[in-house]
Amino acid sequence: MIDKLKIRILALDDDVLMLKIIRTLLTQLGYACIDLCDNGADALAILGQGAAQPQVILLDISMPGMDGIEFIRHLVGYQYNGAIILVSGEDLRVLQSIQTLLAAHHLRCIGILMKPINRVALHDIFETWSTSVPSEEIAPLSKVKPETLRAAIADGELINYYQPKVNLQTGAVVGFETLVRWNSPSEGLLFPDQFISVAEEFDMVNDMTLQVLQSALKQAREWQDAGYLWRVAVNISMKNLASLRFLDQILSMTLAARLEPQMLELEVTESYRAEDLRIPLEILTRLHINRFRLSIDDFGTGNSSLSQLTAISFDELKIDQRFVHGAHIDATRCAAFDASLGLAKQLHMEAVAEGVEDRADWDFLKDRACDVAQGYFISKALPVGEIPSWLLSWEARRPELCQTAQVVC
Ligand code: C2E
Ligand code: CA
Ligand code: CA
Repeated sequence: MIDKLKIRILALDDDVLMLKIIRTLLTQLGYACIDLCDNGADALAILGQGAAQPQVILLDISMPGMDGIEFIRHLVGYQYNGAIILVSGEDLRVLQSIQTLLAAHHLRCIGILMKPINRVALHDIFETWSTSVPSEEIAPLSKVKPETLRAAIADGELINYYQPKVNLQTGAVVGFETLVRWNSPSEGLLFPDQFISVAEEFDMVNDMTLQVLQSALKQAREWQDAGYLWRVAVNISMKNLASLRFLDQILSMTLAARLEPQMLELEVTESYRAEDLRIPLEILTRLHINRFRLSIDDFGTGNSSLSQLTAISFDELKIDQRFVHGAHIDATRCAAFDASLGLAKQLHMEAVAEGVEDRADWDFLKDRACDVAQGYFISKALPVGEIPSWLLSWEARRPELCQTAQVVC
């Protein structure tokens, strides 16, 4: 399953109006990470940035200065391994011969678009590409350098985005999950899968989590002051649970923010292979005793979920998105979903479905009496300033979504 919001697309065309049209069309198709360049040099500068390499390039062939064919030669030099869509007003035969040139350079051309660009043609090219390419290939192409990340953490370049969690029966907002982003001055907005593993590997995850936590607690305080009793959830890596100091830091930060511990939820992913579980177990148990909410994340994807559940009292179980989106039409997903939900109910945990992408997912979950939903159908993760306008639109959708629905699996 590809996440369109993370696909980086570069459009190169000397016609600025054409670039705007391309951006509008791609946005309508659900893509959000789009770089526009009106000359080859700017586009090459983006390619040189490494971590921000585009997965798809829309390339105009006829441009003054560096034309499309020269640009292709540079792409070879940059060892570009993403996809290319040729765009041109030239006749089709010219484009076909450029396609042959691309193949000779082992560059992957996934389609040809004749100007003026047709929305359906663009949609078809992206649909075919996104369903045929293995997800590893469209995952971020390269990771960031540890020293760059260390400087970014120190310089405060990490920012919190927040994704709402809503009650499926009433539509009420129960809280927000904090999802960290890196607002890099040189590379734009980077997603966690481009840097969390680097933070974990190079011993930066504590500094990062404490920053994320600090801003999330401040945010929850502001919401409370404005009359919104929303919980805030923060993702915790197992590496965070390696030292007892982390526990003291959470306690003191929550106290300093004047928040009740139950307003902070810690989402712990189950897929870890920590050899010695004594310290993580102690921290989690003490967090539980201190009334922090504990959530087991990505349920169903890791190793030994059941042993963890019995060892620690979790308040919430998050059913992974791969068992949620489309479960209403897929018997295997549906069975995995039902098993996870059954377990949550039996153990008196709140069940949260992740990856709710459309109305059919929503109706399915509501019919299954799942407690809470989270996903693009409700909202993507938002910068804090966009929450008020999202809330207004959500309130308008809520009455219709919360009527009784009947879905059969
Ligand atoms: P997660 O905790 O499972 O978070 C959910 C991920 O799914 C988020 O990706 C979110 O943007 C995305 N998502 C939300 N709704 C939908 C949907 O309807 N469909 C699809 N396909 N995806 C959806 P994001 O923000 O890129 O985060 C990826 C992972 O990075 C998170 O997975 C979490 O494990 C980790 N992460 C994020 N922030 C932090 C952090 O502050 N600390 C740590 N240790 N990990 C973090
Ligand atoms: Ca999470
Ligand atoms: Ca998750």
